[in-house]
Amino acid sequence: MNCIVCESEFVPNWTDQHGVAECAKCGATYTVVGFNGKTATEITFKDEFVAIVREYWNKTKRKTTFGLFISNAQRWKDHSVEMALFIDWLGVNYPEWL
Ligand SMILES: [Zn+2]
Repeated sequence: MNCIVCESEFVPNWTDQHGVAECAKCGATYTVVGFNGKTATEITFKDEFVAIVREYWNKTKRKTTFGLFISNAQRWKDHSVEMALFIDWLGVNYPEWL
């Protein structure tokens, strides 16, 4: 399957949240049943939010980071920087989502 945000082949990075993986390229989060990342995989965003996340990806090529990584301090640090950038962008462009 391809990621519906970045349209690349979905390669999962497992998060610390059970059954949730993020797209290794753009960071979109999916619920995944099965460990191959290709079985019963569904994005965790509301349909109307997918277009916003896709717009952010297309304009910035930066990850949207909704995955949870509490057991890896460096990953969480990197993740929180990306998340802050996305939230800033969201506040400027779609403040009704904050
Ligand atoms: Zn993606």
